[in-house]
Amino acid sequence: MNILIRLLNIIGSAWSAMLVALIFGCLTIGSNIGLLATSAYLISSAALHPSITELSVAIVGVRFFGISRAVFRYLERYISHDATFRLLGTVRVWFYTKLEKLAPARLMQWQSGELLSTIVGDVETLKEFYLRVLAPPLIAILILIGTCLFLAHYSMNLVYLLIGAFFILGLLLPILIQFLQKNRAHELVATRSELRAQFVDSMTGIVELAAFGKTEQQAQILNRINQRFFTLQNYVSKLSGLTEALGLLIVNSTVWMILYLTIPLVQDGQMNGVYLAVIVLAAQSSFEAVLPLPLAIHYLAESIAAARRLFRIVDTEPAVSEVTGREDISHGKIDVKNLSFSYSSQSRLVLDNISFSIDVGQRLAIVGPSGAGKSTLLHLFLRFWDYQQGSIRLGDHELKEYNAQQLRTIFGVVSQQTHLFNASIRDNIRLAKPDASEEQLNQAIEHAEMDAFLAGLPQGYDTMVGQNGYALSGGERQRIAIARALLKNAPILILDEPTVGLDALTEQLIMETIKKLMVGRTTIIITHRLTGLEMMDEIIVLESGRIVEQGQQSGLLAKQQLFYQLWHLQHDVL
Ligand code: ATP
Repeated sequence: MNILIRLLNIIGSAWSAMLVALIFGCLTIGSNIGLLATSAYLISSAALHPSITELSVAIVGVRFFGISRAVFRYLERYISHDATFRLLGTVRVWFYTKLEKLAPARLMQWQSGELLSTIVGDVETLKEFYLRVLAPPLIAILILIGTCLFLAHYSMNLVYLLIGAFFILGLLLPILIQFLQKNRAHELVATRSELRAQFVDSMTGIVELAAFGKTEQQAQILNRINQRFFTLQNYVSKLSGLTEALGLLIVNSTVWMILYLTIPLVQDGQMNGVYLAVIVLAAQSSFEAVLPLPLAIHYLAESIAAARRLFRIVDTEPAVSEVTGREDISHGKIDVKNLSFSYSSQSRLVLDNISFSIDVGQRLAIVGPSGAGKSTLLHLFLRFWDYQQGSIRLGDHELKEYNAQQLRTIFGVVSQQTHLFNASIRDNIRLAKPDASEEQLNQAIEHAEMDAFLAGLPQGYDTMVGQNGYALSGGERQRIAIARALLKNAPILILDEPTVGLDALTEQLIMETIKKLMVGRTTIIITHRLTGLEMMDEIIVLESGRIVEQGQQSGLLAKQQLFYQLWHLQHDVL
């Protein structure tokens, strides 16, 4: 029930358009009833050879209803589809905005394919709710009332008969179908989503699958889900066929019964025989209003299943409580005190009571073995997660007091996984500052030392980088990331393994460029590679979430502890 109310709430300002579409829906069926009734009257009367003047009203009526039916149907379809598609557009934007608030912390529990399936498939399924579930019951009631008022002129038995037939067709049959369908609609939506998610996963991992010879195995998994989907679809299609057949059976049986009730009235002289066909065809055509109801129940179940999945994602509590108050972020000293953090209340501490500070313009390196908690610390600085114990202060305020979006504007990030959009190099760099002037853009490109690589491209920085920048090398991608950071011109620079995966020469060249990027900025670098650390003001060595050593490179080497061991291990290997 709650889901239905939320779905109705989404309609918002589209209510008026939906209402107009509903009125046109009634007028369409009303015109159809009028068309068949006047046609029946015309044919029956014509058999008695009256003068053409006596038939002129019926002739005009046939013409009017014939044309109005088409016009009303067009208007009804146009208005309802227009309103629904606008509505779905709003839902997609609303859903994406909600996802942004959940990213990245809370989105990890869902496969990217599952999210894609929800934003594309489930939102698309909701279309049926607004088009085929909401209006039909109301139209059916209005048409029933209108037709009953007409039939009441001739016999109340006809009224009771029509109400009975509408009741069976509009209520009992849908309940029966719902019973036979059980959870199939829910399963169908879930399986369709699973299929989409698996497809997305298979496509993104196609290189790995081919490299490890697992394409056949993946194809089998897809095939299994596809089979399940096919079986469910088959069942649902059979059910909708059965629904239509039963619907027609009820309509035609009702027509027989109307004849059974009205023929004696004509024989007894209580009714003019001309109206016999009028009544039968008017009643028969009124069923157009009730025939979609069994299918509406099916679409209702599907829409509820889709909405449930949508709301489940949207209702997830963000990892970071948004603060709207403090947006005046002043760049200052970063002070970390007794900071402890775990990703969930059940899991172990990933950061355990750590304290350190970074002055404005200082350069800090965070090093340590894999899993020590280095990236976690950055996640907390960027407020992707909020810490539970201890404090992180930026300038005069606790980090948690700042608006997360606003806070991120003072950080420039160059990470190991630079995501590139399927756009031109220029647009990918501009992401950091969409309103940057051409001059600022050129300056960033120049300082990121991209000229040589751009010169080799026929379209320069208008070259498209392809899906996730597949057309670029690792070094070229990192130069784009550096150009982004330069363009953003943020006072605090975060470098998360910026040279990982690069060969020694490219690494050296990139580090040279990064050194220039660091000038005048507070810098925090996370690295496994213990090279070039002599230029850092402070090095923190993390192990299992604790700071085990702290100082400058020369001092740490002299101590001959963990840093010394890691340093030697790496330099011996090199
Ligand atoms: P690496 O150098 O390999 O990147 P790291 O020092 O950066 O490692 P973190 O990525 O901070 O380490 O991870 C620290 C611990 O936290 C690891 O045990 C990891 O499994 C866990 N962890 C990281 N991200 C999450 C997450 N989103 N949910 C739960 N646990 C996580």
